[in-house]
Amino acid sequence: MSMYLMNDRFVKNDEVSISIEDRGYYFGDGVYEVIRVYGGIMFTAEEHIGRMYESAEKIRMTLPYGPEEMLSKLTRLIEENAIREGHVYVQATRGSAPRVHQFPGEDITPVITAYTKSYPEVPVVPEPAKLKSVDDVRWLRCDIKSLNLLANVMAKQEAHEAGCLEALLHRDGTVTEGSSSNMFGVKDGVIYTHPVSNFILNGITRRVIMQCCEEIGQPVAEEPMSLEDVYSMDEFFMSSTTNGILPVSEIDGQKVGEGTPGPVTKRLMAAFEAKLPEPAPTR
Ligand code: PMP
Repeated sequence: MSMYLMNDRFVKNDEVSISIEDRGYYFGDGVYEVIRVYGGIMFTAEEHIGRMYESAEKIRMTLPYGPEEMLSKLTRLIEENAIREGHVYVQATRGSAPRVHQFPGEDITPVITAYTKSYPEVPVVPEPAKLKSVDDVRWLRCDIKSLNLLANVMAKQEAHEAGCLEALLHRDGTVTEGSSSNMFGVKDGVIYTHPVSNFILNGITRRVIMQCCEEIGQPVAEEPMSLEDVYSMDEFFMSSTTNGILPVSEIDGQKVGEGTPGPVTKRLMAAFEAKLPEPAPTR
């Protein structure tokens, strides 16, 4: 039976108990992270945990223990559950208190929970993705990895119903990111992606990609693309913790390039994979 992290304890499934008055349940009042595990090792764990504490600070929430303790607890959880390929999900809510919008008193402490998910040992290589453009109607603090994901859920569902893997979000025709990913276009050998701002989540995979680009001498322009631009890109790809770099074959029913991963995307994928902790048998 899987173990879960519940504040500072490791408990079994049937011992996890969350109050109906948890502010995560009422308001989505909290933050979260997903950290990928490759060969039993968390990838970019410090960066993810760092972002979680930054998100918590941005919503004025103080977690009951610090990033080092979080890292050691998540490491233990992965060991307890013997995760080789998979991920760990961790969230913190502002705690449990009678439902009023303003923060509860100082005596109420955040509730931290974490679980692990195992992936098949032989990774399933996902097909190049199809995207559907969707209006980005989210709030103006997309830099916070908040539990409030209603607009992301609605956008993903709209894409899903159109037979697409992901929504390509845009604000008045300016592409921001995906509902759970960052977006990149390639034109004449240059990678374009939205700059880091309050309009996007500063993805950890995005950060690794920027580092890879620097290392392999790949030009990058942190400039937003317009929705019109994306249809004429030579290549397009998306990034996230769970999928790494995923090539995009189609946007709104229009083929990107030849509809197959292009040379820039492939080179970047190789540079990215070289950074992963331990290659699985088929990688
Ligand atoms: N943007 C959004 C809105 C996301 O939910 C995610 C997934 N966490 C990303 C971008 C990609 O971020 P990361 O590479 O850190 O998973």
